[in-house]
Formats: sequence, C-alpha cells, structure tokens
Amino acid sequence: MDYQSKLNQEVVSLPKSGIREFFELVNNSSDIISLGVGEPDCPAPWDVREAAIYSLEKGETSYTSNLGLLELRKEISTYVESEADVSYRAEDEIIITVGVSEAFDLALRALVNEGDEVIYHEPCYVSYSPSIVMAKGVPVGIKTTIEDKFELTPEALQSVITAKSKILILNFPTNPTGAVLSRESLEGIAKLAIENDLIVFTDEIYRELYYSEEQADGSIKPLLSIASLPGMKERTIFLHGFSKAFAMTGFRLGFACAPAPITDAMMKIHQYSMLCAPIMSQRAAIEALKGGRKLISPMKQRYHSRRDFMIKAFHEMGLECVVPEGAFYAFPKVSSTGLMGKEFALKFLEQYKVAVVPGEAFGEAGQEYIRCCYAESMEVIKEALDRMKQFIDKLPS
Ligand code: PLP
Repeated sequence: MDYQSKLNQEVVSLPKSGIREFFELVNNSSDIISLGVGEPDCPAPWDVREAAIYSLEKGETSYTSNLGLLELRKEISTYVESEADVSYRAEDEIIITVGVSEAFDLALRALVNEGDEVIYHEPCYVSYSPSIVMAKGVPVGIKTTIEDKFELTPEALQSVITAKSKILILNFPTNPTGAVLSRESLEGIAKLAIENDLIVFTDEIYRELYYSEEQADGSIKPLLSIASLPGMKERTIFLHGFSKAFAMTGFRLGFACAPAPITDAMMKIHQYSMLCAPIMSQRAAIEALKGGRKLISPMKQRYHSRRDFMIKAFHEMGLECVVPEGAFYAFPKVSSTGLMGKEFALKFLEQYKVAVVPGEAFGEAGQEYIRCCYAESMEVIKEALDRMKQFIDKLPS
C-alpha cells in the first residue's frame, strides 16, 4: 500500500525532532557518554515516589475527574500563587495534563484558527513550531542572538506583529539557552501583548531552576511571570509541570492555569483525547508540591555548580557561551572552531563518543551552536568536557 498517500499530508511534511534523529544515531553506537537528553540525572525524590506507590497500594487505579484531582488543583493554586504571584481558582482555572506537552497542545488547539500567526522566540524547545503547524497555525519565529543573551526584546516582537498575530509563546528560563528576561523587557512585551490583543502562553517549566544572580549593580533580577503583570492574567496561559524541577519526567504530569473560558475549551479537547492524567502521578505531584523548594533545592545546588564548571571549561576552550541564568542547558557557539553545530556534534560523536545536541534542532537561529545538558553527573560532565577539549585542539586552525 502507498502509505504516504494515506497519511495526513501535514504530518508527512513535518520534520522529525532534531534531538530524536540525533539520538537514533547514539542508540546505534556503544560506549557513548551523553550531555544530550534534557532530563535530570537523578530519580524523583523518594517522598514523591512513595506517594505513587502508596496510591497503587490503596488500589487507586481509576480515572479522575477530567480536570484532575481537586486536591492537586488546590495545591497548584497555592503553589503558583507563592511562586509566580498570580492566583488561579482551583475549581475552574486549572487543568491537569499529561506533561506540559499536552497542556501546550491543548492550549494551541483551543485557540488557533487556520492561518492565525503564533509568535515564539528562537532558539526554542523543539516542539513549538511543529505543534503550531499541527494546530493549523502559522509559526513566526523571532531569532534571538548571543549579543542579546538570547533575550527577546520588545522591539524584536514589535517587528513581527501583524493583523494575523494571535498568540505569543514565551519560555523563560529558555530551553536551550537558559535566558531569563529583565522586568523592563517583560513589561515592554506585556504592553505590546495588550495593545495588539495577543494571548500569551508562558511555558515556565524551568521556573524553579533559576540561579538568581546578582547583577553588576548589586541588584537581583527577579524571575517574574508575565501572568503576574497588570492586565496580563486575563490574556495569559501559564504552563508548568513536574518533569524538570521535581525530576518527574516519567510521571508525565503538567498543568495549565488560564481564565475559565479558556480552561473550559482546553478541557473539552482533553476529555475526548486523554480523559485525565494518571491518578498515581497526580498523587505523586501533590507530594511534590507539599515538599516544594525543600525537595528541589539539593538538585538545584548541584545543577548550579555543574553549570559553573561547564561554562568555565567552555570559556577556557575559547568557545563563546552566555552564562545560562536558568534551566540546565549550556548553549556554546562552536562555529569559531570552523564547524557548524551539526557537523561539530556528528564529528565529536563519531571521534570521541560524546553526544551533544546540534543547535539547529532548536531552530535556524541555533545553527552555530550545540546544546549541552548539565543535569548529568560531575563525572560524566568532566569526561565529556575533557574529550571536547581534545577534539577542538585537534581541529585544523
Ligand atoms: N517545555 C519545555 C520548554 C521543555 O523543555 C519541555 C521538555 O523538555 C517541555 C515543555 C515538555 O515537558 P513535559 O515533560 O512536561 O511534557
């Protein structure tokens, strides 16, 4: 049978994730060490795992309400208010989803009509552009630059807004660059969103992994959520989940907070496509939120020192690299070695058996870069960087 002609043509023309494509190569080789996958190197905290086990022991193997357990939504409401300074009603403004991935997809499908323009900053998480296409929207990427520390500026946003612009996607701290916006930039972006009647998705999956550093003037840059700025809650979908800060990727649990009419529209799609998130994962998430910062802080401290180690090593190798302010990725520019990101990653893998992700997986703006995840053990990081130094030293100058 000619399967290609049977398949949805939009799907046929979608590229496979650059990360997956690369890791298929990795899986076919042996003895590889990896800075590739964006996943914590440790299991979820014990209290969290125990809550899931206890849920199963009690025989909780049923569906939950479509929106998710009310007890979890109440915990989320309290948590988001204390972390991001914006309050959402547990009853009708929060929906529990299968990861941020599902929340993001639901939000797009609930809002996008064919041809609506959806703006995002690039380099960005691999699924943004394909998800927009699958929702029949038009992706509009704004390239951010190393000179601007990969921060989106209000001026850059202004330059792409048209009459068809409907949604703006923000992700700070950013995967893959670790960028975080200043209050001034965020306020400028909020002003434009209001003036142009944009709906904003703020993907804050790395919010807890912000290494709030003192600025040159001694002030601390606060990690603001755009949802908390005046006039923004009513036009913002706040997306968050448990995969990164709580090391719970396999639990597949996320959530969206939004005005009730939007949550309701997302819920309609969710109830027909997913029904609900797994009950034992929801029980584990309640425990995670109860533990909060106490559970996160040891992991965060480890990431922080690994980040410092990695950035110093890149600088010593002569690679330009912005100090990432959050998440657990570094995004060094490798084009100064004479190789673009993809070539660099392939040769490095082939010759030194270390996997890093070519920056172009995160959009065209990432072509000169590679992404290295520092949520790996110090042993792996040291060995990988050692090999990278040898690799670069042997490249023709
Ligand atoms: N958003 C960003 C920015 C991510 O980096 C990821 C995963 O890497 C996701 C969403 C998806 O997360 P989840 O595991 O909650 O589906």
